[in-house]
Amino acid sequence: MKYSQLFIQTLREVPSEAVIASHRLMLRSGMMRKIANGLFAYLPLGLRSFRKIENIIREEMEYIGSREIKPTVVIPAALWKESGRWHTMGESMLRVKNRLNDEFVVSPTAEEVATSIVKGELSSYKQLPVSIFQINTKYRDEIRPRYGVMRGREFVMKDAYSFHRNDSCLDAHYQAMGDAYRRVFSRCGLSVIAVKADSGAMGGDGSEEFMVESEIGDNTLLVCKECSIAANVEKAACKDDFSPAPDSVLTKNLPEVSKIDTPDAKTIPELCNFLKTDAKKFIKTLIYRAANVELDLKEASNGWAFKAEKRGSGLVYPEAFFAVCIRGDLDVNEVKLAAALKASEAALASDDDVMRITGAPVGFAGPVGLGSVPVIADKTVKYLYGGICGALEKDKHFINVEYGRDYKPFIVADLRTVKAGDACPVCGGVLYEKKGNELGHIFKLGFKYTKSMNVTYLDENGKAQTPIMGTYGIGVDRTLASVIEEHHDEAGIIWPMTVAPFHVHIVPVKYDGSVKEAADELAAQFNALNVETLLDDRPERPGVKFNDADLIGIPYRITIGEKNLGQNVPLVEVKKRTEKEAHTVPLKDCAAKIAEEVRLELAAFKTSAL
Ligand SMILES: [Zn+2]
Repeated sequence: MKYSQLFIQTLREVPSEAVIASHRLMLRSGMMRKIANGLFAYLPLGLRSFRKIENIIREEMEYIGSREIKPTVVIPAALWKESGRWHTMGESMLRVKNRLNDEFVVSPTAEEVATSIVKGELSSYKQLPVSIFQINTKYRDEIRPRYGVMRGREFVMKDAYSFHRNDSCLDAHYQAMGDAYRRVFSRCGLSVIAVKADSGAMGGDGSEEFMVESEIGDNTLLVCKECSIAANVEKAACKDDFSPAPDSVLTKNLPEVSKIDTPDAKTIPELCNFLKTDAKKFIKTLIYRAANVELDLKEASNGWAFKAEKRGSGLVYPEAFFAVCIRGDLDVNEVKLAAALKASEAALASDDDVMRITGAPVGFAGPVGLGSVPVIADKTVKYLYGGICGALEKDKHFINVEYGRDYKPFIVADLRTVKAGDACPVCGGVLYEKKGNELGHIFKLGFKYTKSMNVTYLDENGKAQTPIMGTYGIGVDRTLASVIEEHHDEAGIIWPMTVAPFHVHIVPVKYDGSVKEAADELAAQFNALNVETLLDDRPERPGVKFNDADLIGIPYRITIGEKNLGQNVPLVEVKKRTEKEAHTVPLKDCAAKIAEEVRLELAAFKTSAL
């Protein structure tokens, strides 16, 4: 293709808001332009790489037996009400009305529509498993879009959904998806870190996130120096560092709980100072408000005044309060807490709510005698002997508090925030922090949508059964931006062959006379060999063309000049974007030689048996 026909304008300067390399280079190289905050248009050069990434993903999905569909982007609100997510997705979901006042959602994700499509087609066990995917536009109304397409509002996502008869079938497809994702990222030239992730608003167990390391990453990862296991801090499990009580404690009669005066001491450091003790002796108790709780609170309800609503097939508490106990030196992880409560979110209750629930100002909550809300305990307090906690009265605390004797939690779970420096849960090594950006996510969803949306099939005995489901996403724009983040230098992008907009960039020093003739002929030879070629036919100075070639970053640059052409054996200069030095090649051998190198580079990444 001729440069003059590509509709491309490179920029010397970039807007100051472009603070990361991919954002800067995508604007400077003319790959894309900003339409509005968080909204970008791809121009021809950018779209070529974008389509290559889409195609790599498409090939790998088809290879593992997932089939492409194309649902609409605008989805009826009714489907989201059926699944219950109409109430839980929050403000990031764009809701619109048509002229008849019907409500719709602009897809932020597509579990609902995929489930409803499968529901319409599925009747017999013989049709299972089913795996479908789309590569389609999504919209999320980010509060603060930034970093170009890395965190935009509209983006393209590959999302796949699978439906199975049983866990083992789902497990096998989940594994195949994970392998396909590893191949996708490797073919794009990306180094990814696979981490166990929190499932967020998705609900369910068993998930893996594919992250790239990034200074501006919105995920904090904890990585073990010893065994290199990685986890998202939101869900990182902790190594148990508590131990059963020494026999001396268990065998002797434990002293009764007693209430003591703690004037002017309500924070743990103040209390440690006042009581001359350690933070590890405290049963830190915090009052949390949780939204959309699906945990069954009925059974153990002793007067908890939470209103339940019927949503889908189960009961949901739109609002409920909990007292959360954790050892005094540790912090509660709100994502783990929300997961333990099966809630969409959990956050500290307001001071007024604390007063109403505990009968005391903030700082004096404790599990002993607290009947107004369920007590949820981190595992650490179970092994805390002779503990100290608030006495539900201003300036009073209890001492000698024993788990099981003086209070009994409604549930006990791992709720603690793991930090850099903590021990690795697998090998005991030290964890350190990295920032990461999520490119992909695979996730065993369970029955969340198939149950709430009432999907069934008939088994061999003619009995109705509910299929189990998995969901799998990759952000295409983010993947593209991440390739640039990983492959660039001061001068511009350094494309991996697989996703480069073109394979070869021909730069005639002056597009005229014998040079023009040689350049046109060489481009024709490359075209015949299926090598994608950009020919810089502009009447620009060589320096300008070389700078643009470095900026655009096509893997091979071939320079044609009069002097080299005038040799006994006419020569051209070949320079790989990854290398500093150029070398000369006889013009007559150039096309065949480079076509072979391009072919080998592309073949190295091809998934076999496609
Ligand atoms: Zn480890």
